[in-house]
This record gives sequence, C-alpha cells and structure tokens, in this order.
Amino acid sequence: MTAQPQYRTASTVEDFRVHLAEVHGRIAAAASRAGRDPGTVTLLPVSKTVDSDRLRLAVAAGCTDLGENKVQEALRKSGELADLPELHWHVIGHLQSNKAKFVARFAHGFQALDRLSLAKTLNNRLEAEGRTLDVMVQVNTSGEDSKFGLPPAEVAAFMQELPAFDRLRVVGLMTLAVNSPDEQRVRACFKTLHALRGQLQQEAPSGVELGELSMGMSGDFELAVEEGATVVRVGQAIFGARALPDSYYWPTGG
Ligand SMILES: *Cc1c(COP(=O)(O)O)cnc(C)c1O
Repeated sequence: MTAQPQYRTASTVEDFRVHLAEVHGRIAAAASRAGRDPGTVTLLPVSKTVDSDRLRLAVAAGCTDLGENKVQEALRKSGELADLPELHWHVIGHLQSNKAKFVARFAHGFQALDRLSLAKTLNNRLEAEGRTLDVMVQVNTSGEDSKFGLPPAEVAAFMQELPAFDRLRVVGLMTLAVNSPDEQRVRACFKTLHALRGQLQQEAPSGVELGELSMGMSGDFELAVEEGATVVRVGQAIFGARALPDSYYWPTGG
C-alpha cells in the first residue's frame, strides 16, 4: 500500500492559487513525460462538499468551471453563486432520471450519460428550458459492479443512438479508474478508455464528437494525463481532504 497523500485545506485565495499552480505543474510534468502539449489538458476542479463561501475564493483564484457529483448540492450552490455568471457547472456523478430537470436548468456539462432513457429525459427537459448541454458517455473501464457506466463493448451501439437527441452535444468519454494502489491496474483503465475512443472515432455518427477523455482525479491524475486524458477532475488536491470516504459519494444503488 502506498501512503495516502495529505491533502491540505485551502482557506484563502492565496492557498487556492498555490494549490492550483501545484496541480497545473504536475499536469504539465506528466504531459511532457508523455510527449503531450500540457495545453491539451483541462483541469476541472471538483467542489463537492465545499461551501459556497470557499468556492468564491477558488473563483477569485481563477477557477471558471466546477464539477459536482450530486445534482441538488450543485443546484443550490449555482443559485448561491448566481452573481458569478462566468462560472460553469459540470455534473460528473450518476444521475437519476427524476433529477434530469435540475441538470437541464443550470449545468453546462454532464459527464455521466449511461443510458438512453436518461438521454431522452435530459433532451426533453433541455428543450423545455431552451438550452443545450455538453455530455460525455460514462464507461465502466474497471469492470467493478460498484462503478456506473456502460461496459466498453456497449458504447458503439449506444453512440449510434445519440444523434436523435439534438439538445445533447456529445463531446467525449468519461471514466473512473479502479481505486487501487496497483498503478498498473489504474493505468489499464485509462488505456481502455483511450483505446475505445480510437476504435469509436472511425464510426462516430455525425454530430458525435469524442475528442474529450475525462479521466483522473486527485490520486491518479498524472497517470491519466500520461495515458491521454484531456480533462482531469481534481477535488481534494485543490480544496483539501474530504471527511467522508468516496463510497459515500458513489452510492451503488440506482
Ligand atoms: C469526487 C470526484 C472526483 C474528484 O475526486 P478527488 O479525490 O476529490 O480528486 C472525480 N470524479 C468524480 C466522479 C467524483 O465524484
């Protein structure tokens, strides 16, 4: 077992500047190890559990986009921060269909599309709101029952159905790697997503773009960048350690 990294809590604008610079530096180093341009990797700060007052400090330090995995929490904060119109919200966690209406109201991006019934509900709700939404298809690259997302083998057929939903702008694929101290197992998940994109790009229907690969979080984003991530979703390394284990945020129930 590797030791758990100590994530320091950011409580001033300066703390956020320092943490953001550190993460950007680690992204750039990982990109250059892989011969990639660091400018092709976007950092999405993940702000779940962080209250709106602290989010204002993060925004002052330069954050323009925030990722949240629970819709109601994200909706509440987007209301509390409505005076920051440049701020974009991304829902990155599993979504129950009865909450699609909330996402349609305020989200700029949704990274956990995993079923056609949800695509249909989201599309209808977006139409009613007069909005569009950037979406990524979530893929279960670890094979764990506890992870949401389509099995890799089912993504090709799923993708063919997506042009029917004209309010959804499909921009790429998202995954969560296995939570393991074994670097090779983590890396294998990222390689699977990258390879899948390569296979699918040939047959993508018009309007379906697969340019984005959202993969990597605080514990594994450097591996993800080495394996081709274009978006890394990083919470604790920017905001500080969360009190509760990840199982709390990734419930296994539908
Ligand atoms: C919380 C979360 C992250 C970020 O995890 P950290 O350990 O805080 O970096 C990334 N992706 C998803 C889907 C999450 O829920």
